[in-house]
Amino acid sequence: NEGLKKTKEGIFGKLARAVAGRSQVDEAMLDDLEEVLITSDVGVDTTVKIIRNIEARVARDKYMNSGELKSILREEISALLQQSDSRRDSFGLDVKEGAPYVVMVVGVNGVGKTTTIGKLAAQLVRAGKKVYIGAADTFRAAAIDQLQVWADRAGATMIKQEMGADPASVAFDTLKSAVANGADVVLIDTAGRLHNKVGLMNELTKIRNVMAKVIPDAPHEVMLVLDGSTGQNAFEQARQFTDATQVTSLAVTKLDGTAKGGVIIGISDQFRIPVRYIGIGEGIDQLKIFDRQEFVNALFG
Ligand code: GDP
Repeated sequence: NEGLKKTKEGIFGKLARAVAGRSQVDEAMLDDLEEVLITSDVGVDTTVKIIRNIEARVARDKYMNSGELKSILREEISALLQQSDSRRDSFGLDVKEGAPYVVMVVGVNGVGKTTTIGKLAAQLVRAGKKVYIGAADTFRAAAIDQLQVWADRAGATMIKQEMGADPASVAFDTLKSAVANGADVVLIDTAGRLHNKVGLMNELTKIRNVMAKVIPDAPHEVMLVLDGSTGQNAFEQARQFTDATQVTSLAVTKLDGTAKGGVIIGISDQFRIPVRYIGIGEGIDQLKIFDRQEFVNALFG
């Protein structure tokens, strides 16, 4: 998996150096491992948890070599990762017959929200789905234009209003139109301004309530997009959005440009929200369904 090359070299290059020339796992080696995980943005709490588990196993097994350390680390990491377990024939979404499957997409500006919606729409259209996109980020004219470019490229229908319109009204129109036209999937873009917690909560709640008026159980999914290259910032954003609304899945972008893909491990562990997609490039095909086993395989190679 080319997209995770930098993370692999980052985490496991450092790990290889930490264990080089030492045959037995000892305190010093675990200290080095701890530093590798923290500098790869796994996060302090999750790192401490991993190191404690490994220490317990070292104490029990008495002797452990660096090869065994690596395979135990691999087990520990896969146990912490949360993936979604839904169907793969509609690019990971649990699309059912009858009513459109509605995904509300949230996240701050610049994390790759528009790109992720565009890539997702394109892959769904390719899988034979009829896709509607709602431009409910009405604060930036450029955001609406950029989303339109992606919608056209993907072969999706976009519903929009003028800049400054009420986001909830755009979401309402989009769902109405999607239902009337027999759409399979609706992707709703939302504004990425992180003002105060109450403001964010009110805005997202208003959009959710209006959607439920058209389709009672919508949104079926609230997907938070995080930029994987921002490390601790991504943790902070996950905290703010999970405080403001119920987030049900994550898309972690820009993992191709960073050695800090460890952020996926920490966020998975801390927030217990499944990672549905990872972004590993700007291209239309560079959004992948997150698979725990593939991820760990890519890292440990
Ligand atoms: P938004 O403000 O959240 O809607 O962010 P955009 O979708 O406009 O993306 C911001 C920038 O990040 C753009 O230049 C995208 O091409 C880039 N981008 C998004 N996803 C990825 C990714 O997975 N890898 C890389 N390398 N760039 C990405």
